[in-house]
Amino acid sequence: MNVKGILLDLDGVLYTGDNPLPGAPGAVRYLKGRGYITRFLSNTTRYSRATIESRLLAFGFDIGEDEIITPAVAAINYILETGLKRCHLLTTRDIHSEFEAAGLFHQNTEADWVVVGDAGDNFNYDTMNQAFRLVQGGAGLIALEKDRYWMGSDGWMLSAGPFVRGIEYATGKTAALIGKPSPGFFGMALRDMGLIPADAVMIGDDVVSDTGGAMKAGMQGILVKTGKFNLEALVGADPGPTMIIRSIAEIDTIL
Ligand SMILES: [Mg+2]
Repeated sequence: MNVKGILLDLDGVLYTGDNPLPGAPGAVRYLKGRGYITRFLSNTTRYSRATIESRLLAFGFDIGEDEIITPAVAAINYILETGLKRCHLLTTRDIHSEFEAAGLFHQNTEADWVVVGDAGDNFNYDTMNQAFRLVQGGAGLIALEKDRYWMGSDGWMLSAGPFVRGIEYATGKTAALIGKPSPGFFGMALRDMGLIPADAVMIGDDVVSDTGGAMKAGMQGILVKTGKFNLEALVGADPGPTMIIRSIAEIDTIL
């Protein structure tokens, strides 16, 4: 495969739950050693970029904060560009901190935006109803991601998607999607790498959000059979991935 840049998903490709996947740190070192430009494109919306970096370091990965691109980072850029800064954040505390560091402060009323990420335990009737009321009252709805689920250390976990859909259903409005598979998210990563789509490949475990989104944006897509990989999703995928490998540890056979 002839490319200059590699976008890697994190969860399900480099680690699952609290464990790095076998051979994954070595695979990242291999790709960097071969001179590829790398970016790590995660749909994780529970953790800030700084927290993700320190988790990756603890797992043994040599990955810098500036190589990590998350929906929260992209949403902050997007919101700052609009000039409308009043955000109601239905997210984790860690993501609140990341918004605050950018000068965007959570507010319960009078919001321009309702931002929904994977809020974990912060999802409950009251927080969902407050988000619903603000969107019903005219605030814009921003989905950091719309993934259905992810693989936690003790089993499947609901992601932000089901909660975003709930607010969309109640209000009749559609959320602006920031994370994968939105073309804007992949475009932001490519601009950061200084590459055109034809020069890049996305490696992920989600045939829709990762490889499907990247391929619709003009890149190639390599699917790994770790993390949330499942055969049913692969059979129904349009487009299907360019290539499939067993795990990131096998990347040296094609790149
Ligand atoms: Mg993944």
